[in-house]
Amino acid sequence: MFILVDFYSFSFTIELVIRYIIYETSVTMKKTIIPLLLCLLLLGACDKSTESFSTSTFAMDTYMKFTAYGRHGQSAVDEAIETVHELDARLSVTDSASEIYAYNSGDSDALGEETQALVDEALAIGARTDWAVDIRIYPLVRAWGFTTEEYRVPSQEEIDELLAEESTMLDLGAVAKGYAGDLIAAQMREAGVSSALLELSGNIHCVGTKPDGSLWTVAIQDPLDPSSYVGTVKIADMAVVTSGGYERHFEQDGVRYHHIIDPKTGYPAESGLVSVTVVCESGTLADALSTALFVMGLDDAMAHYDAYGDFEAIFVTQDDEVYITAGLTDSFTLLSERYVMGAQS
Ligand code: AMP
Ligand code: MG
Repeated sequence: MFILVDFYSFSFTIELVIRYIIYETSVTMKKTIIPLLLCLLLLGACDKSTESFSTSTFAMDTYMKFTAYGRHGQSAVDEAIETVHELDARLSVTDSASEIYAYNSGDSDALGEETQALVDEALAIGARTDWAVDIRIYPLVRAWGFTTEEYRVPSQEEIDELLAEESTMLDLGAVAKGYAGDLIAAQMREAGVSSALLELSGNIHCVGTKPDGSLWTVAIQDPLDPSSYVGTVKIADMAVVTSGGYERHFEQDGVRYHHIIDPKTGYPAESGLVSVTVVCESGTLADALSTALFVMGLDDAMAHYDAYGDFEAIFVTQDDEVYITAGLTDSFTLLSERYVMGAQS
């Protein structure tokens, strides 16, 4: 609404000036000034349609920023903030009022329809990755203190016991931000937004292209130096999700432990990878897969790509090598001098 009012007052002024010129000035004056004013009017309209609206918030344990362009932008970013807080309140493992908390504590044995659909999708992705990502991992993640930030190294005995148990407790931490991106992107498209950038910590989700029609450039963070980048990918209408051990970790007795747990060992995954970025349309798939491929390691991850082919990925190894899947050859650019491209098979 603000844009329309603003635009109409602008065009109304121009119209008054044109009327004055038509009735009160000479022919030569009319011939030069009227086209000029019409151009101005057009420029004003174009400028308003690419106006950007941003909001930021803290949700799902992380900083988020949403930017939408065009005349639906303001209401779209306001709705995005509401959506993400509603999801956080529903999916959090630590908030005692959440649906997942009630389910995990046995106070409720059924999930709402939407949450159940997300759980089913996450379990299906778990199955296709041979449970490298498994949302039933909550008791293990809790034992390491990653949900409460009261970090500790569990004893081998405790880990063995947890591995032997059939867990039904859920932790949607590996998929929630990707799912939130999907939901917000869909809401924005429905509201008529054709250009938006959603930043949910390491998850980037873009709607359409940049307002000028060109591709978005998304930078992949350097796992060893958060202020610099490994490289960039150029995309439209995609989710770009990164999982890395550098995102959350603690140190005990000189050993560093990170938050991505291998469900088979119960320990932080040691796969030779320091970060995995997945690029595909679905944020939920990208998020679940980024965690899974990190656990799998490069060879199994590439085999998974060959078997499914419904995503693209960028792998950074602990030997400072960068590997990309075939579909990113034209859109990935290496930026950092620290890393070299690994030999492509
Ligand atoms: P992400 O940052 O998307 O890789 O997800 C990591 C988060 O998901 C952790 O903070 C845990 O809450 C949870 N998590 C850790 N390891 C796994 C796993 N192997 N499968 C499912 N969830 C996991
Ligand atoms: Mg993930």
